Amino acid sequence: MKRRGAFEVAEMVREGKWSARSVVMEALSRIDAVEGSVHAFLHVDREGALRRAEEIDRAVAEGRDPGPLAGVPVAVKDNISVEGMPLTCGSRILEGYVAPYDATVVRRLREAGAIIIGKTNLDEFAMGSSTEYSAYGPTRNPWDLSRIPGGSSGGSGAAVASGEVPLALGSDTGGSVRCPASFTGVYGLKPSYGLVSRYGLVEFSNSIEVVGALASTSRDLSLLFSVIRNSSSPDPLDQTSVFAPLQDIGGIEGMEFGLLIQTLGKGVDPEVESATYRFADEMKDMGGKVEEVSLPEMGLALPAYYLLVCAEASSNLATYDGIRYGMPALLDARNWNEAFSTVRGKGFGPEVKRRVMMGSFELSSGYYDAYYLKALKVRTLIKRDFDRAFGRYDVLVTPTSPTLPFRKGERTMDPVAMYMSDLCTLAAPLAGIPALSLTCGFVDDLPVGLQLMGPPFGEPTILRVAHAYEQKAGHWRRQAEGDWEK
Ligand code: GLN
Repeated sequence: MKRRGAFEVAEMVREGKWSARSVVMEALSRIDAVEGSVHAFLHVDREGALRRAEEIDRAVAEGRDPGPLAGVPVAVKDNISVEGMPLTCGSRILEGYVAPYDATVVRRLREAGAIIIGKTNLDEFAMGSSTEYSAYGPTRNPWDLSRIPGGSSGGSGAAVASGEVPLALGSDTGGSVRCPASFTGVYGLKPSYGLVSRYGLVEFSNSIEVVGALASTSRDLSLLFSVIRNSSSPDPLDQTSVFAPLQDIGGIEGMEFGLLIQTLGKGVDPEVESATYRFADEMKDMGGKVEEVSLPEMGLALPAYYLLVCAEASSNLATYDGIRYGMPALLDARNWNEAFSTVRGKGFGPEVKRRVMMGSFELSSGYYDAYYLKALKVRTLIKRDFDRAFGRYDVLVTPTSPTLPFRKGERTMDPVAMYMSDLCTLAAPLAGIPALSLTCGFVDDLPVGLQLMGPPFGEPTILRVAHAYEQKAGHWRRQAEGDWEK
């Protein structure tokens, strides 16, 4: 089946060549055909999407322009608020909760003419790398249903990869957009911290996470990014949001690439490593300069990341006590402690509990300086490492993940192995810099992801590199197919 990208859909709808209604009908029938096998969605809003499509069609008929995403179906990760739709964060504790307002990114999508088609599966509260920690069952990788799609935005990656939607939103704390993009063979962008409003994104680790974009081509990725980012001023509803002019240093000719040696070699699949080197050769052919570079503090990113996110999670998730949201506290509890622990004990899954416990421990008196404060200092060292590297290089290159998409169940019993999946992606969010994952090859019909990192607000540069490479390599033409595809 021919899949149309967002750019093409919007163009046709705006010109009146295709109705938004038929775009939505097509997306819904695709969803019906593949969801039984892939399970990318937790909620599909059929009526809402069709209603919205009619509004778009009316606007076109009346000669009004619905915007750059006119009639484009978009899937939204289920930790981002969409007014009137369930918001579960993949957790039992929020079962039945319906979001009363739109996140800023969702409002911007609607203003651009997009149609929010539903909410996608994720690891509970975005904690995980495989989407197996969802309380509502795992999502499968459309390239091989016995494998995971990556996480935590695995539903969004799988929805794009299986052609259910051309665009999806995810959130990225330590790799949650880039890891599923890599494992499902699509493009994923984690923007600079603050450039995209977090208002309406459920907080897990608020000093690190961002809303990110997933798409099947680099052009669609740029389009989605241009719609969701702060384009003229910060969002007054998010105190950490910023507006900054973006930097674009132009074409590949003369561009300086640094290949990060800490992310190659030991612990990295040889096929992934050779695909990364092939990408580097391609950049040289296109006139870029490539050198190996060392970021000495990179090895500390993983422990620092987990200390910081657990600390922030333990504080952010204190709000789920069964009183304000979801699961009601048991009325027959003898006291508050019993009510809270019953609700939290039943409502949270094992990974969330592990992080809340680790976070509470490291923030407690006597341990704060030894763990949390030290992790903050390491974060500064990592940021300085990147500042130094970007003094010399325009773009840093690593694999997105050290391995190919792994099999379902392979790492769920081993949290550390699961944490290691993010070895290459954790550092960028600690430094707040933009990073993108693209497909740089295939091994046994499984996509291999490559990560490009740029200086703060250097999104146009990494998007440009992704686009130039895509034109040459043409991997985007290859689409996930399987028996699940009717
Ligand atoms: N896998 C990482 C974690 O579990 C990243 C998750 C994310 O980016 N939200 O924290």
